[in-house]
Amino acid sequence: MSKLQGKVAVITGGGSGIGLATAQRFVKEGAFVYIFGRRQRELEEAAALIGKNVSTIPGDVRNSDDLDRLFAKVHHERARIDVLVANSGFIDPQSLVETTEANFDKTFGTNVRGLLFTVQKALPLISEGGSIVVISSIAAFKGIPNYTGYSASKASVRSFVRTWTVELKDRGIRVNAISPGAIDTAIIDAQSPTKEGADKIRASFTAATPLNRLGQPEEIAAAALFLASHEGSFVAGADLVVDGGLSAL
Ligand code: NAP
Repeated sequence: MSKLQGKVAVITGGGSGIGLATAQRFVKEGAFVYIFGRRQRELEEAAALIGKNVSTIPGDVRNSDDLDRLFAKVHHERARIDVLVANSGFIDPQSLVETTEANFDKTFGTNVRGLLFTVQKALPLISEGGSIVVISSIAAFKGIPNYTGYSASKASVRSFVRTWTVELKDRGIRVNAISPGAIDTAIIDAQSPTKEGADKIRASFTAATPLNRLGQPEEIAAAALFLASHEGSFVAGADLVVDGGLSAL
């Protein structure tokens, strides 16, 4: 039996990496999925890969009108959301000394403000028994040099989960976070201007991970499926760490 048969899911950042792998897995499990992100072309390529039961909406989580447009479309077409995966995220590593106001604003604008208003604006559509999965990071609870703003933004995301679990309990909505370790996606390339630099980042995270490799986006998608489906029916307010053991060290 498919685990998300007939369910409606919205995935921000669903055009690439973890969001795309999650959208693919959810559709395989019987869901209809809306994917949202800024790059229209990326979304269309993602939809072609997914193949069926997918709709694309271009937009920026920092822009209220874009979020309103996203949820108006879902309301018009399906009238409800069973699963929301708030996955869009941004990183541009800077140390405390280097951190610019622009970097801080973009990091918190995307990862914290954008995520909060994504969930707030989705809420009227989220059905009783629904599931909200937010993507945090092990950076939320580890000291990683140059992740000053990023790590703090992900700690905020983890905090939201605790508050929202209590605020939404009377609606039967479960809220959980996933904290990935180092996962092999474009967000690693985005952390260096050169391929050599990105390779170094990959090598250093691999060396720091007890399973001795980077994770694959599909491994985070599997965790998202667990939290989104009946399999995770008694899991609420949690942070599911999927990191190959990286945070155990
Ligand atoms: P990715 O492929 O770069 O995905 C990031 C996604 O976020 C993209 O699809 C991007 O789409 C979307 N996004 C960024 N800014 C946005 C905005 N302002 N509005 C709407 N969408 C936006 O990298 P990923 O690894 O899959 O990242 C997904 C999530 O996992 C992020 O929250 C990231 O922080 C988290 N994470 C990743 C790792 C890792 O090692 N890969 C580890 C821990 C946590 P557009 O550019 O088209 O907007």
